Amino acid sequence: MERLQKVMAHAGIASRRKSEELIVKGHVRVNGKLVTELGVQVGNSDKVEVDGVPIDREEPIYFLLNKPRGMISAVSDDKDRRVVTDLFTHVEQRIYPVGRLDYDTTGALILTNDGELSQMLMHPKFHIDKTYVAKVEGMIDRRSLNKLENGITIEGKKTSPAKAKILSADNDKKMSMVELTIHEGKNQQVKKMFRAIGYPVQKLKRETYGTLNLNGLRPGEWRELKSFEVNQLR
Ligand code: URA
Repeated sequence: MERLQKVMAHAGIASRRKSEELIVKGHVRVNGKLVTELGVQVGNSDKVEVDGVPIDREEPIYFLLNKPRGMISAVSDDKDRRVVTDLFTHVEQRIYPVGRLDYDTTGALILTNDGELSQMLMHPKFHIDKTYVAKVEGMIDRRSLNKLENGITIEGKKTSPAKAKILSADNDKKMSMVELTIHEGKNQQVKKMFRAIGYPVQKLKRETYGTLNLNGLRPGEWRELKSFEVNQLR
């Protein structure tokens, strides 16, 4: 048995607090009966409706994918390009990616049907470290990395403090490999950060997402997360 507002939040209806409001305001029925008081517990077989629409009571499930290049981080694409959920066709639950990696970016991507966790992980105030390895054009130096670390202005907003490390630099090819850890997730943030300091990204991979890493997963491979791993994300 679980609290009604928790079940609603898991189904992606709204945050727990907003779900409580929906209950109190008379939008929610359990097994056809209007519920306006908080504290009601529901089991797996109870039918919950919000404004007459049954909510999805699937068991939450969580995957870590090593996203390959050439795939959209979505459940469908209007241009019919391959999407990450194409790799999970045998999974019955309606999972979707948490946030997105660009079409040409590889690496750690979580997929789940847990709307509550997904909203939490994507919320800007929820500081979860993500480590990227970027292959950039040019011989990058420590001074440039300091700029990334201290925050730079992109589209009028300063990025939060980051951690950056040079992994290697190839003087012949004029290319550098850099590890960058950020906790924000603005659209194309890593590419924009490097572009802003004059080092365009050629290749990008997300190596870690919070405590999760890609050990044992080749591009296109995935594994189900263990419950302790999910708890570490919360
Ligand atoms: N930053 C980017 O620029 N691209 C990604 O795919 C992820 C982070």
